[in-house]
Amino acid sequence: MDREITLSSPDITDHEINAVTAVMRSGHLSLGPKVPEFERMFTDKVGVKHAIACNSGTSALHVIWRAMGIGPGDEVITTPFSFIASSNSILFVDAKCVFVDIDPKTWQIDPKKIEAAITPRTKAIMPVDVFGSCPDFDAIRAIADKHNLCVLEDCCEALGSTYKGRQMGSLGDAGAFGFYPNKQITTGEGGMIVTNDDQIAFVCRSLRNQGRDPDAGWLAHARLGFNYRLPDINCAVGIEQMKRLDEIIAKRKRVAGWYHAQLEGDKRYSTQALLPGVELHPFVMVVKLSDEYTREKRDAILNNLKARKIGCNNYFTPLHLQPFYVRDHGYREGQFPICESVSARTIALPFHNHLTEADVAHVVKVFKTLL
Ligand SMILES: *Cc1c(COP(=O)(O)O)cnc(C)c1O
Repeated sequence: MDREITLSSPDITDHEINAVTAVMRSGHLSLGPKVPEFERMFTDKVGVKHAIACNSGTSALHVIWRAMGIGPGDEVITTPFSFIASSNSILFVDAKCVFVDIDPKTWQIDPKKIEAAITPRTKAIMPVDVFGSCPDFDAIRAIADKHNLCVLEDCCEALGSTYKGRQMGSLGDAGAFGFYPNKQITTGEGGMIVTNDDQIAFVCRSLRNQGRDPDAGWLAHARLGFNYRLPDINCAVGIEQMKRLDEIIAKRKRVAGWYHAQLEGDKRYSTQALLPGVELHPFVMVVKLSDEYTREKRDAILNNLKARKIGCNNYFTPLHLQPFYVRDHGYREGQFPICESVSARTIALPFHNHLTEADVAHVVKVFKTLL
């Protein structure tokens, strides 16, 4: 096969393209009717009281921390196995990231290790729904309630996934979705805050829009805000994607099914284990090589896949080992051994709706010959 098989690819149709054109012709490019329409689709889907569109998942996380009152001197407990925006959002408000190691099978934060990390400065826990699945939220909620902590769910990878029948995004005090083109739905760039908390919602709405209060004037700013608004152009894309969500997810599940059938029954690698009660809307297709593979061997496989025009990546590098975390925040290798061991062995294979069953068979065949 000579054609390149990309790691990800957005599922865009004429519906999205026509919706963009219509907004462009309307002249109402920002703060128009598409914003509340897109937000309403999230309150309906996730089953929460408030949804607030932002221009990225990262900005959504940032304003939630501000609305929760997290700041200098506060500590937030989170996982070292995630995308950098998770823990960076804690640093944006000058709070401290306190990492807790992950479970070796689910690759999610291990609730059994959370209580030992709690200090009098701990103010919040940020569980991440890694790869669209989630950690044991009932255990996390119990710990948060016992110690009076806020819970921010980073659900950027988990739109539509459920845990014990509850939508991901609704499991914490607030949640943040992201709409970069590799997520379940995309708006180009974009994000969405979801919460049942009236006060968090009120402050997030204001912070997104330069600190304005509703019904106050354009030049009246009640608090230090940002411009984190999502344009109507992007909301129009999101609305069409949400209308097609069931179709998009059904296709993603079909591709995931082909992978699982092809990958099954080989001891040289494993895939992510799901907790009982998790119904997954797949985000990526990540395999973890078994312990006898070194990081060097994994990196060689990644390079060989790329040389054969198969998109792939090492989701994720441990957050605590990112250069500026080591340099400026004093983290070091060996602190979170399970995360480090998983991170050294993961390979994300191409995963999107334009893959055919033959593409998947080709990818798995090449992958297996490289093992
Ligand atoms: C994608 C993602 C984000 C941030 O999303 P952006 O929209 O790219 O800012 C945050 N956390 C996780 C876990 C993500 O996967």
